[in-house]
Amino acid sequence: MNIQDEARRNELIAEIRQEFVETAGYTGLHQLDARVEAALRGVDRSRFVPEDTRGAAWVNAPLPIGHGQTISQPYIVALMTQLLEIEPGDRILEIGTGSGYQAAILAELGATVYSVEVIGDLADRARELLRSEGFTVNQRHTNGYLGWRDEAPFDGIIVTAASPEIPPALVEQLKPGGRLVIPVGPRWGYQSLVLVEKDADGNVHEKSVLGVAFVPLVKGSDEDGAGENHR
Ligand code: SAH
Repeated sequence: MNIQDEARRNELIAEIRQEFVETAGYTGLHQLDARVEAALRGVDRSRFVPEDTRGAAWVNAPLPIGHGQTISQPYIVALMTQLLEIEPGDRILEIGTGSGYQAAILAELGATVYSVEVIGDLADRARELLRSEGFTVNQRHTNGYLGWRDEAPFDGIIVTAASPEIPPALVEQLKPGGRLVIPVGPRWGYQSLVLVEKDADGNVHEKSVLGVAFVPLVKGSDEDGAGENHR
């Protein structure tokens, strides 16, 4: 990474830190965790955005990645990651691999990562990129609405697309003590980032964390040929 990029990355981290402080009243998180910060520093976001938008890779904004999808805003990636309270070795499921950036952040934190993507082209590109960048992520090209039953249960589940309801299968696939982070809301309406915690007795608690804007989670058979290319 050149000096200019490093300066931009430091600025981005400073902005994320500031945004944690400003949103603490909603999120209950008072500062960016040092381990999450280290993971943000350890993954080169410019590798995960399209070449023609590389100049904007260190801006605190989402960017288009093709197929009408986006790589999330870095602050949101940091927030969702921190809400998961990941310990090294945790089994984490991500629904919506997209560019692979969030999956790389989870791997950088020492998690065993499982990630599912419904769009074949994005799944293929992320697979190549994660491999070439040296991240180990177990990937599947399929609809993740039903989770990943064969690998369940998980310590944490992160959904990076918005759903009008919390998919019941995902709650089922959480371990007791596990956490699910998901944007909940309609396609074009108000969406809220929700933290779902399953306690030691298996009881489920939900907490709304922040208003957010995500691309929609594909639910049923309206996706492009997914479900037939499990790998
Ligand atoms: N985590 C991604 C953000 C991707 S945007 C990143 O770091 O870049 C959300 C992604 O979710 C899109 O790629 C979209 O195709 C995918 N998606 C939407 N519905 C899905 C579903 N039911 N199963 C799996 N992936 C889905």
